[in-house]
Amino acid sequence: MKIEFEDIPDSALTLDISEEAQRIGPLLHGSDFTVEGPVTAHLEVMRTQEGAFISGHLCATLGLICSRCATEYKLRVEPDFSLYYVVGIETDSDKELHASDLEVTMIPAPEIETDDILLSQIAVELPMRPLCSKKCKGLCLKCGIDLNKEQCDCLIEEPVDARFEALKDFKVK
Ligand SMILES: [Zn+2]
Ligand SMILES: [Zn+2]
Repeated sequence: MKIEFEDIPDSALTLDISEEAQRIGPLLHGSDFTVEGPVTAHLEVMRTQEGAFISGHLCATLGLICSRCATEYKLRVEPDFSLYYVVGIETDSDKELHASDLEVTMIPAPEIETDDILLSQIAVELPMRPLCSKKCKGLCLKCGIDLNKEQCDCLIEEPVDARFEALKDFKVK
């Protein structure tokens, strides 16, 4: 959906958006995740002299693959965000002006595609190293079984502390 700035009323524009996963998912670049179910967002759009200010809340469920155990899992993301769009070409003096402000996005024309807002917020929420749980034990380095589900008898050689090394030959009679 396209927001034309000239259509924004003085009282601000409120939008509730719901996009189908089948449509929004393929628009995201990257094949290491999927969008599960609809992406919904609530946006408050205010017009300013320079452009438009948007504050919003997004809800989405992403399908990810755990970087430790390779299991697929779902991650619910619900970010709040504030965005400021300024119409024009950014100059160096603009950069200084906005340096301390919230993040400013320069846009060539007074309009924004709501898809772009949703996609950028989902991208921000994607974990660098997806984990199905903080306690995920991962896969055995030797036999490859999922240590969250099973145990194996593999001995993984860990660096032994020199103090314990001395006890290695100690036998109980
Ligand atoms: Zn895992
Ligand atoms: Zn093993």
